[in-house]
Amino acid sequence: MNKTDKIYVAGHRGMVGSAVCRALAAKGYANVVVRTHKELDLLDATAMRAFYAQERPDVAVICAARVGGIGANSAGNSEFLYENILIGMNAIMEAYRAGVKRLLFLGSTCIYPRLAPQPIPESALLTSPLEKTNEGYALAKISGLKLCEFLRRDKGVLYHSLMPTNLYGPGDNYDIVGGHVLPTMIRKFETARVNGDATVPLWGSGTPLREFLHVDDLAAACLFMLELDNPPDLVNVGSGREVTIRELAGKVKAATGCPAEIVWDATKPDGTPRKLCDTSLIRSLGWAPKIDLEEGLARTVEEYRAAVADGSIRL
Ligand code: GDP
Repeated sequence: MNKTDKIYVAGHRGMVGSAVCRALAAKGYANVVVRTHKELDLLDATAMRAFYAQERPDVAVICAARVGGIGANSAGNSEFLYENILIGMNAIMEAYRAGVKRLLFLGSTCIYPRLAPQPIPESALLTSPLEKTNEGYALAKISGLKLCEFLRRDKGVLYHSLMPTNLYGPGDNYDIVGGHVLPTMIRKFETARVNGDATVPLWGSGTPLREFLHVDDLAAACLFMLELDNPPDLVNVGSGREVTIRELAGKVKAATGCPAEIVWDATKPDGTPRKLCDTSLIRSLGWAPKIDLEEGLARTVEEYRAAVADGSIRL
């Protein structure tokens, strides 16, 4: 990828897409093309075809997706499958048809089997059944990464994929029901602190293990992959450090300074028991994360408070 390349970032208003745009700008990539959801519906193949034909980008970075936490996914597997498969197929295939030479597709480590070996290597893909709570999303992302792989192998375009672990950071979804655990915990502890509540309700048993990566680290990894001449088809990206949900709750409680007591709601799902990705491939290529969980959490709580204060938080 060159500094003069025209780069299309799909999903530039989302947490990942906006971080990628910030990282591109910071590194001097000035020729970036974006469209809002209103201007371009990625579910519409005809509209995607017309967009690519008009703009003819050199590079596309596909960050757009319908995303959500365990509550949103398990209640909406049909929408998560349908929308994400269309977004992936349209954004990738229409890019190929328009002659886009290079494309990076963003997925998630939830594409791996529920009981994959831990830490999960890229080779675990499609080796056993998926986690049911996010099966729709996973199937859609697997289809997208496979389309990139097939086009690269059969048609000679440089289309490749990056699978990030659980992300957090600016622009996250702070919805109590549909959000992921980390932003939801920040909101729950902050709300309890401000209201002086005695308890904070959290989900499941607290025993599942998760790994968290700050979205600015992911954006740096995206640029790192795009600057490689011959990247692997599929690469995991994560912090390499896992914590139990209970430990995470303790860290968020500390970062917010909330004195409330945690109450675990065992009627809510735990999801997959452990989800740590093997990041030895990306590390062997020369990339490492820079923002540790404590620093990232402190920053994110500060950003959450500022966003609540100025009314810009997406609730
Ligand atoms: P997952 O990583 O795909 O399972 O999705 P989440 O980020 O939504 O949830 C991760 C884990 O955090 C699961 O074990 C949840 O049960 C647990 N958890 C605890 N409290 C909450 C909460 O308030 N919201 C969410 N979304 N998850 C929670």
